[in-house]
Amino acid sequence: MSDLAIVWFRRDFRLADNPALDHARNHHDRVLAVYIHDPDAMGDWAPGAASRWWLHHALEDLADRLADRGGSLVLRAGPAGDQLQQLVEETGAAAVYWNRLYEPAIVERDKRIKASLKGAGVEVESFRAAMLFEPWELLHGDDEYYKVFTPYWKRMQSDWRAVSSRPEPMDLDGPSKRPASEDLASLDLLPDVDWADGIRDRWEVGELAGRRRLKHFVEDDVERYAADRDRPDLRGTSSLSPYLHFGHISPVQVVEALEPSGELPGGKGPLTFVSELAWREFSTLLLFHEPQITDEPLKDKFADFPWRSRSDYADDLEAWKRGRTGVPIVDAGMRELWHEGWMHNRVRMIVASYLTKNLLIPWQEGAKWFWDTLVDADLGNNTQGWQWTAGCGADAAPFFRVFNPELQAEKYDPDAAYIHRWCPELEGLDIKALKKLDDDEREERGYPPMQVDLKGSRERALEAYQDIKG
Ligand code: FAD
Repeated sequence: MSDLAIVWFRRDFRLADNPALDHARNHHDRVLAVYIHDPDAMGDWAPGAASRWWLHHALEDLADRLADRGGSLVLRAGPAGDQLQQLVEETGAAAVYWNRLYEPAIVERDKRIKASLKGAGVEVESFRAAMLFEPWELLHGDDEYYKVFTPYWKRMQSDWRAVSSRPEPMDLDGPSKRPASEDLASLDLLPDVDWADGIRDRWEVGELAGRRRLKHFVEDDVERYAADRDRPDLRGTSSLSPYLHFGHISPVQVVEALEPSGELPGGKGPLTFVSELAWREFSTLLLFHEPQITDEPLKDKFADFPWRSRSDYADDLEAWKRGRTGVPIVDAGMRELWHEGWMHNRVRMIVASYLTKNLLIPWQEGAKWFWDTLVDADLGNNTQGWQWTAGCGADAAPFFRVFNPELQAEKYDPDAAYIHRWCPELEGLDIKALKKLDDDEREERGYPPMQVDLKGSRERALEAYQDIKG
């Protein structure tokens, strides 16, 4: 057997706990690390602008980390199957390994690639690296996948198997002749006009940055996670989502950081945190089994929901995107998203409920905006988050649960610290005063009037819901 294996990096930008890389190192003398830029493979869901920004820096980081160990990263662009075939021919590689992804379009593409490479006599193997359980594990009844989270989570706990991460390679030998590589800049991932200042200030991209964030969270914050996770003013969550999405860290590493034995972590904070990882797995499995949910409601009856028409809502949608709805907690969230490429989970739910219910704008519009602007944009989590909030997804909040953004702010941002951070024109107004803000004072402060009356728009949403309820 040739002693060269190709490791195809996709969204697993790490050297530690990387099963495909570990397998290649254990079974071959030399390893060729490859990334193939193939945005068309995701169909309508090619990475958005914020994700591309992150990807650029993730590739830079991976190339540096490989170089530190004597390896290098070959970049290619175009249909992944063709590129891999070509690389095999150029290098004489005996094997191609990768870690699995679960977006339906990617799954189909990978199946085709696997069959074609195997047909050409190349050894091919893929590995579980992004998940604790595969979407086809943990079934119930007659091999049905779970459509409700709570029993799924219970099952995960009862079927828990101790996890153990794989070691990080300390040296890597590449092929004797390195194949040609694209230049990172030629992939054109960075924006023409640099709008990423806020994102740069907030985020450090890469494997070691992800590990530092995890360490900090486990040492300083996890114990208060269960109590503070709904408080955007306290930043009580881990901010690990982009690192998990891009695979700078693995869920196995997260579990080990919480519980070195790899057993299910105990204690309220750690266990609640693992239950959020379970939401991530649940969202992935829904997308895996129901590929249409990126665009269509999982609950069929919502296909006939009387949303407003695009020509009617276009201006309202634009104001929502820009953080100019006149509802402070909504605007704070939308500005945080625009500025830092991220938004706190509680606020994601508030702005999504406001868009779909108070503004009666289809959830797909919100999902697309998030897709373009979030550094953690993830097809499973984003789809699930939007469908859940809009009431049309699996195990969703019932449609009639319309969040009152003022009460949500009172409860989760009691000192209005989060609102003041993102809406400085409202400085000095406490949460009660914010509720009483009249049009004159709004104008004086340069803050927009309310887009809709919260009570009236809530009633309009409930009436619309009556149309499809039967
Ligand atoms: P933590 O609370 O520290 O949670 C740890 C990890 O668990 C997260 O990093 C994430 O991987 C996972 N997680 C947490 N909450 C959820 C959840 N509700 N569903 C699925 N996984 C979860 N998350 C994304 O990663 N990408 C998205 O594109 C995305 N879009 C969303 C859209 C809407 C409308 C809503 C309501 C939620 C969305 N979420 C998304 C889920 C959640 O808001 C983020 O995962 C979370 O805010 C990330 O911050 P964190 O890492 O500090 O989370």
